[in-house]
Amino acid sequence: MLEQIRVVLVETSHPGNIGATARAMMNMGLRQLMLVKPHTFPSAVATARASGASGILERAQVCESLPQALAGCRLVFGASARSRSIPWPEIDPTQCAEKTLAVGGEVALVFGREHSGLTNEELDYCHFLVKIPTNPQFSSLNVAAAVQVLCYEMRLCWAAAQMPEAVAQMPEERGFAPATSEDLERFYAHLFATLEHIGYYDPAQPKRLVRRLHRLFNRTGLEQAEVNLLRGILKAVQECTPPSR
Ligand code: SAH
Repeated sequence: MLEQIRVVLVETSHPGNIGATARAMMNMGLRQLMLVKPHTFPSAVATARASGASGILERAQVCESLPQALAGCRLVFGASARSRSIPWPEIDPTQCAEKTLAVGGEVALVFGREHSGLTNEELDYCHFLVKIPTNPQFSSLNVAAAVQVLCYEMRLCWAAAQMPEAVAQMPEERGFAPATSEDLERFYAHLFATLEHIGYYDPAQPKRLVRRLHRLFNRTGLEQAEVNLLRGILKAVQECTPPSR
């Protein structure tokens, strides 16, 4: 999935942003960078900002027009901080990643110019407008930061799909399953017996201790293994302390 996503930068003015984009992509496992009429490229500034991701810059394709950069794509997303007067189908980054995973083919994420973004004519090529939720009073991200956010969402979605069911079930197999209500009942019985044993709790005058301790432990969402651990501690306390009365 990640190899089939191309990042398309339209008329980027600052080569530093091209380099930062390459780095953001490589961090998240994306490889295909297309540059539509970049102002300055190749550039030493871009290479420096790419850090170890200069391979992406070397493979980047420079295109004369947006349609050329989109050739062969099944799905195109236009990233924009601005909602448009024409109602465009607008989605958030998570929905964008889910749709990308579902299409299973070449997909493009298109990013606009630093000063003026994407034109409506350019958005005509896009199936969806993707808007990263931001502070409405200051909604425009640096273009490479916007690339980073979308690439991160792609990676999260891809990673979730990679996880084999066996791995997803592993926590339970390893005893990390949530404790059952029977486990918890036995734990509370053991806890109050121990507190009585050390003279901290008198069942004849329960006050609110029972409820407060239930509330405390229930809030933590105890796992089976944790219940066993706590009961081991209770057992050790009982064994080393003579009954209080
Ligand atoms: N002043 C421009 C902002 C350009 S920011 C404008 O009004 O459109 C450069 C590019 O970064 C944008 O074209 C867009 O592709 C991306 N970008 C910035 N902020 C974004 C956001 N909140 N959501 C989605 N994309 C964003």
